[in-house]
Amino acid sequence: MRPLVSLAVALAFSFLCQAQDKIPLLIIDGQNNHNWKATTPVLEGILKRSGKFSVEVATSPPKGDKALAQFRPELKKYAVVVLNYNGETWGKDLQKDFESLVGEGKLGVVVVHAANNAFGGWNEYNQMIGMGWRGNKGGDRLYLDDAGKQVRVPSGEGDGSGHRYTGEFTVTLRDAEHPVVKGMPAEWLHVKDELYDNMRGPIKDIHLIGTAYSKGTKVHEPMIWTVSFGKGRIFHTPLGHDANAMKCLGFASVIERGSEWAATGKVTIPVPAEFPTAKQTKSAP
Ligand SMILES: [Zn+2]
Repeated sequence: MRPLVSLAVALAFSFLCQAQDKIPLLIIDGQNNHNWKATTPVLEGILKRSGKFSVEVATSPPKGDKALAQFRPELKKYAVVVLNYNGETWGKDLQKDFESLVGEGKLGVVVVHAANNAFGGWNEYNQMIGMGWRGNKGGDRLYLDDAGKQVRVPSGEGDGSGHRYTGEFTVTLRDAEHPVVKGMPAEWLHVKDELYDNMRGPIKDIHLIGTAYSKGTKVHEPMIWTVSFGKGRIFHTPLGHDANAMKCLGFASVIERGSEWAATGKVTIPVPAEFPTAKQTKSAP
């Protein structure tokens, strides 16, 4: 019996250590003009598969429900929040929790696709996301010209946000040394997705990591970036319109590595061997 008992103790101990080592992560959903009931499980699957995170989900009351004012997940329990939420503005308490924990560097943030449509009237959120789906007066616009030079379009000039191209498109890395994308091919083909363009915002303290050329706007639109907010780290990608887009192994890698980076400032999750190439998409089954 003795060896068995010590084996059991060792197993239990190693399980506990592993559980403790995991990064506590919260996905917030519940309101979205996208099918969050289908996409949250995909995000959960990606994050759990990495083995790095303990994943929980907080689902807000539905649109029009006054209980939203009391929706207040205990954010301080987590190292990073993944936003799959595009809906009514949270209650003041949750907004304050979020602003202070992120600003103090205690909570990382990952912004996925339509989450950047949310909270247009919340200044701190606009700063955190850098830019998002807004009208053309919703802030500056940033794109890259064919030479890779950043061009800034002032608020009020040009178009508001859209997805003037939907289909497969190439993601081009602009800082291949950034921990989130280090080891990925410089160009990789993403599966059919909405290609957000003309995103608008304060675009302050952002670091552009990847772009995609839009056949709709004929320029290179921001696709992967980070934002500093106080001491906080925000990771943002407008990729991921639906469950199919999220099955792209490039998207999955960007999300799991971006989440680790937002939580810890480092990335240890490897780039998967099976990864899209410049010519070929790769999706999870
Ligand atoms: Zn969409």
